[in-house]
Amino acid sequence: MVGCVYIHEIAGMLIQNRKRYRWDRIGMVLGCFALVSVALASWVAPKDMKTGSEEVLAHPEQIMEKVPALDPRPIVKIQASPALVEEEVKPCSCNRHVLKLAKNPYTQHRKAARNLPHSFFVKDKSELQAGLRNGKLVEVKDGRGYHVSALSHSHAVLLPEVKKLLQDMANDFADLLVGTPSEGTKFRVTSLTRTAWQQSRLGRKNYNAIDEASTHSYGASFDIAFTDRPDNSAGCSAPTRAMQKVLSEYQNQKRILVIPEKDCMHVTLRP
Ligand SMILES: [Zn+2]
Repeated sequence: MVGCVYIHEIAGMLIQNRKRYRWDRIGMVLGCFALVSVALASWVAPKDMKTGSEEVLAHPEQIMEKVPALDPRPIVKIQASPALVEEEVKPCSCNRHVLKLAKNPYTQHRKAARNLPHSFFVKDKSELQAGLRNGKLVEVKDGRGYHVSALSHSHAVLLPEVKKLLQDMANDFADLLVGTPSEGTKFRVTSLTRTAWQQSRLGRKNYNAIDEASTHSYGASFDIAFTDRPDNSAGCSAPTRAMQKVLSEYQNQKRILVIPEKDCMHVTLRP
């Protein structure tokens, strides 16, 4: 409307000053007309002229596809089940601090070791392998009532008669715990047959000194250092009492010799 009033004024001025302002006034009128035309054109522009926002609004279903559909199921927070969290089961010690047994002198152990039926001095690994081939030594794997720990200074082999002793002791140990919360507990064998070479690596003995040889170098001895429970439902007292009972009975029956050490029980079979 302002533009139109302005056009009338300009038209009057053109009539009054036709000769003097003719061309510049005409140019202004034409420019004003062009501006008004553009304003009118944009005012009556059809709705389907596409702008960015109109394009989106023209296809609302496409927008809906991008919004994740609501899951009708309730949100459930998943928590770690207590059963899946590994519970640490600490071993029960098996040494002179917790077990009360008489100490048999080491000279008796050595004498016994040399006099067992299959006994021989296992000097090195080739002699150990020869012993396995000729049946003087047998492999020892986990069994009822006992298991063999990872060994770094000995081999899981024994004289056949010593393996039999180990199995008998382990069965008696397991029998004592049947029906109790400690059922399934195993004692842990931490050392079996050491070659003389392995023994010398421990820094205790001369590699070639048979007179000073360990009874472990005859396949005659093994060490028990712990009892391992299946879980924490029962304490250490029952397995420790069972270990005490088995060791003392075998010792009293003169089947074994024992040295209670600070970190294990050293057991040797008697002939
Ligand atoms: Zn030992």
